Amino acid sequence: MGKWLHKTLKPTDSVESEPHADIENLARLVEGSIEGDERKRLLRHINRCSRCYEILQETMQDVPAETSDKPAPIPWYQKKSVYALAASMLLIFFFGAQLVYKFQTAPSLAATAKLALDQELKDILLEDSRLQWQNVKRIKRLLSVLQKKGYRLKSFDRVVLTRPYYQVKSLFGPQEILHIRIEDNVAYLEVKAAK
Ligand SMILES: [Zn+2]
Repeated sequence: MGKWLHKTLKPTDSVESEPHADIENLARLVEGSIEGDERKRLLRHINRCSRCYEILQETMQDVPAETSDKPAPIPWYQKKSVYALAASMLLIFFFGAQLVYKFQTAPSLAATAKLALDQELKDILLEDSRLQWQNVKRIKRLLSVLQKKGYRLKSFDRVVLTRPYYQVKSLFGPQEILHIRIEDNVAYLEVKAAK
C-alpha cells in the first residue's frame, strides 16, 4: 500500500532509488566538460535531489576559488605554448621555403618564375614599349609586385623584355603567363599564352 501511494504521488520520480551524482561528475558539469545524455540525466537528478544540489553548489564555489588563487600562471603558460607552437611552425615554414627555393635555383644559377599576368603586372609591362627597361622606378615596381605576390627571386637591377608585349584585346583571350628568368642581375621577361 505504501509503495502504491508513493508511486501515485511521484509517478515519474523515484529519487531514492536513483544513484546520487558523483562529485567528479558534478565538477565536470561545472567545468562544462560533460555533455549529451549524461549531462541531461545529471541535471534532471540535481533538479530533484537536494543533496546533490547542495554538493553542486559547493563545487561551484570551489572551482572559482581554486583558480583565483593562481590566475596568472595558467593563461601565461597557455599563451607561452601557443606562441612556441606558432614560432616553431613559422620556423618550419621558413626553412621549408628556403629549401624549396635552393632546390629550384641550384641546378642553374638563374632564378625562374612563372606567374599569371594580372592587371597590375600588365600595367607595368604596358608603361612603355622599350625592350630594355631604363626606368629604375618601373623596375622597382616590378620587384615589389613580385615580392607582394610571394615570389622569392634573385635580385635584379635590369629588366629585358625578350619579346614585345601587346595587350590582348579580347576579354576571353587565353590566360597569359609571365615567365621570368634572372641571370647576372638581369631579369628576362616573356609573356606566353597559358597552355
Ligand atoms: Zn542525489
